[in-house]
Amino acid sequence: MNEQSRGIHIRDISKSFGAFKALDHVSLEVPQGTLLALLGPSGSGKTTLLRIIAGLEWPDAGTIEEDGTNITDRHARQREVGFVFQHYALFRHMSVFENIAFGLRVRAVPQREIVARVNELLHLVRLEGLGQRKPSQLSGGQRQRVALARAIAIRPKILLLDEPFGALDAKVRVELRQWLRRLHDEIGMTSIFVTHDQEEAFELADEVVVMNHGKIEQRGTPDEVFDQPATPFVMDFLGNVNLFHGRVEKGQAFWHGIPIAYPDYPHAEAKAARVYLRPHELELVRGTKSASIENKEQSGQEQSLSAHVLRITRNGAITRISCRPHDSESELHVDLPAEAARSLALETGENVLITPRNVRVFLPDPEYVI
Ligand code: ADP
Ligand code: MG
Repeated sequence: MNEQSRGIHIRDISKSFGAFKALDHVSLEVPQGTLLALLGPSGSGKTTLLRIIAGLEWPDAGTIEEDGTNITDRHARQREVGFVFQHYALFRHMSVFENIAFGLRVRAVPQREIVARVNELLHLVRLEGLGQRKPSQLSGGQRQRVALARAIAIRPKILLLDEPFGALDAKVRVELRQWLRRLHDEIGMTSIFVTHDQEEAFELADEVVVMNHGKIEQRGTPDEVFDQPATPFVMDFLGNVNLFHGRVEKGQAFWHGIPIAYPDYPHAEAKAARVYLRPHELELVRGTKSASIENKEQSGQEQSLSAHVLRITRNGAITRISCRPHDSESELHVDLPAEAARSLALETGENVLITPRNVRVFLPDPEYVI
């Protein structure tokens, strides 16, 4: 087998429930050893795709290959797959030890080997000494570690996790996330992790696949997806954006009359466009435009927007300054490090100048409705 075919190849999978298309021609390659996050809003088809990979659901069309072998018709039991759900789904009447041992007993692994392997797993998930407890005697985070140990006990090639930390509180989630990353690297599995939480996906995954309406919008490293969102959906979904309606013309996009290079549209005919600006990619200084700046702007040198401050909201390390541009009724949010905002000491109603450091422009897509 060549290295390229190692891993999972999903080819042109479609799946409908009645008239509803849950997956629409999805193709995806997950190379051996990758930790990949499926990220998307509720109902975008993440769980359906994961269940099809697990062999718990059947596609209407398309194939799945594992290491070059077509496994589309194999049931979950015949696939080397471990599965972790959001709700631990532990056997309540069984001890932690027996929960972890379950898949090994089903496969008739000898008792001595079971004891050795379960003890090794208890150590790996840092639950030594808790083997005889019942799941009800554990915290949520501990239970989810038992679920993980149970899933990897059978030494699956592929670990599938469906919002596994969704029911836990924020602090435990962050801990388990880092711990899962280490575990994945130690064991060298291929892992696919479903989440609707952007931060979780970005912190954990080698690659992120953004899904929407049963389709893949974009696949890339966390940096690629965040810095170069391929579609307006990805831009919106990653959140925290200012959206404006502007226009494009002759290689430039115009935002409140400020020209921004946009070589993708070289045509002379002006066209409406959506301009996206992230709040932390805007610069803000106190002041108003002087006549000389207005002149410079006409010659295309200075590119800032006059606005006044509507609100100042502190949120941890970030302070958000909400402004209203003088030439419009829209609101524009600027995020500054709290320290920088404190030293600026702005007040509501003050005039400010805002300069975009980075913008993204999308031409209208008739299929896309905001
Ligand atoms: P996600 O995990 O991204 O929230 P799902 O894959 O669970 O999305 O679901 C995608 C869509 O398919 C949803 O609208 C859901 O209601 C529908 N769906 C999923 N499973 C079934 C099913 N067994 N029967 C009918 N509709 C389903
Ligand atoms: Mg789901």
